[in-house]
Amino acid sequence: MRIVDLRSDTVTQPTDAMREAMLRAPVGDDVYGEDPTVNALQERLAGELGFAAALFVPTGTQSNLLALMSHCERGDEYIVGADAHTYRFEGGGAAVLGSIQPQPIPQDADGTLPLDRIEAAIKPDDPHFARTRLIALENTWHGRALPFGYLAQARELATRRGLGFHLDGARLYNAAIAYGRPARDVVEGFDSVSVCLSKGLGAPVGSVLLGSRELIHRARRWRKVTGGGWRQAGMLAAAAMHALDHHVERLADDHARAARLADGLRAIDGLDVKGCHTNMVFVDVPATRLKDLAAHMAERGIRLSIGYLPSIRLVTHLDVDDAAIEHTIAAFASFAY
Ligand SMILES: *Cc1c(COP(=O)(O)O)cnc(C)c1O
Repeated sequence: MRIVDLRSDTVTQPTDAMREAMLRAPVGDDVYGEDPTVNALQERLAGELGFAAALFVPTGTQSNLLALMSHCERGDEYIVGADAHTYRFEGGGAAVLGSIQPQPIPQDADGTLPLDRIEAAIKPDDPHFARTRLIALENTWHGRALPFGYLAQARELATRRGLGFHLDGARLYNAAIAYGRPARDVVEGFDSVSVCLSKGLGAPVGSVLLGSRELIHRARRWRKVTGGGWRQAGMLAAAAMHALDHHVERLADDHARAARLADGLRAIDGLDVKGCHTNMVFVDVPATRLKDLAAHMAERGIRLSIGYLPSIRLVTHLDVDDAAIEHTIAAFASFAY
């Protein structure tokens, strides 16, 4: 049976061309800074996105953690969306490993942290309080590209209040495609940015943290401390380079397929399509039917993410083609809600 895996854009298989690129990559010991392919990836992304330095790391969770630990010290706090990945889905790492207090802010439906709520959460310089040091945004957030003008407004606030400004850009390139702008414009004004290569871009492993030379110097130290000093990582960097060369523009295909999927599902009675943003579709079914729906889909080889979010999330990616979309719509249509 053919499997259609819509749980996440992390499930992609490396393409044959990507595996070829990995095979040929020159490598060295990256803890010594001697892996030529890792260095080339870091220099390339720093140059393309307008940062002085970059660091290749295994995961987006580690990349965000290193950023938080490089901006903040013990007893500092960062302001973050209450539904942001760094706060909710990273095991509380900033608090656990960085002694950094998160200050979560309820987000608006578009993913933004209201600026007045950020202002109100910034603590005065007083020993009663943790020291507010950083604002962290996420773009895209649950598939939504934040309103483009909001980015500059939040930047202005961070500057005015003397705070650092971090972006969890796990899906930065999906945001860039949604805006129809170069990724460089989307990260303008941020002090640090984390980008995943292993989401829609289709690399097997890897994220890159971007920032100033000083910030990346600190992050490199924390990467070693947290056990992320890897050695001949160039084969993974080669996959990342291949993804940047060949899989950025095609994210538009994923967005188009998500839109087609949402359209097909909207026509089905009993199914409530809550939203479609970049490569993600969110649908609700009556709670009492969820278990049966999961079994119905599994019988048809369709894998869904049920239970992590209030809605069922369907994510398109490199390994989801037009036939997979039609197969999925037909499977939803043949279920009694
Ligand atoms: C996937 C993701 C991350 C990091 O994920 P890893 O699985 O640790 O690579 C961070 N932020 C967002 C928004 C993500 O979707």
